[in-house]
Amino acid sequence: MTRYVLRCSECGKKLLEYDTASIKRYKSPIKKCKKCGREYIDPRCHEIAAEGIPEDEFSVISYVFAFVLGLLILLRGLHLYGYRTAHTSKEIQWVLPTFICILGGAFLIFGVVEIFTILTGVKRAKFDRLYDKSDERLCDRNYALKLYNLGYKVPDKYL
Ligand SMILES: [Zn+2]
Repeated sequence: MTRYVLRCSECGKKLLEYDTASIKRYKSPIKKCKKCGREYIDPRCHEIAAEGIPEDEFSVISYVFAFVLGLLILLRGLHLYGYRTAHTSKEIQWVLPTFICILGGAFLIFGVVEIFTILTGVKRAKFDRLYDKSDERLCDRNYALKLYNLGYKVPDKYL
C-alpha cells in the first residue's frame, strides 16, 4: 500500500493523506485549502458522470468471493473455540476465536448485502442517482471549467 500526501501548491499546507486502497467517493472533488483558500482536486473523489459508472461495482463474483472468505474465516474461528492454547490463561481463551468469528462474520454479511443489492437492482439505482447528481453539477459550465482548469479530465460535452 502506498501512502500519498498532498500539499497545497500555494502555501504548502498538508491537505490530505491517503493510501491507494482508500474507498472511492462519488462526489465533487473540488476542495479548498483551509489555510489560504486555494482550490484543489481531491483524488479520492470522482465525478461519476465524467468517468462513467464503474462496472466492477456490479460484479457479483467478487462479492461471492468475500462471502466464501468470510465463511471460511468464521468456521475457523468456531473451530478454535474447541482448542486450548497452552500459553494462554483460561480467562482469555475466548478472545482470539471471538475476534476471528467477528471478522469472518463481517466479510460474510458484507458479501451477502452487496450481492443482494446488486441482484435486486438497488445498487444500480443508487449509482444512477449519483450519476444524475454528478451530471447536474457538470452541466453548470462554470463548474465544469473550474474542474478542467484544476486538471481534472472533463468530457468535451460539458465544456
Ligand atoms: Zn493553501
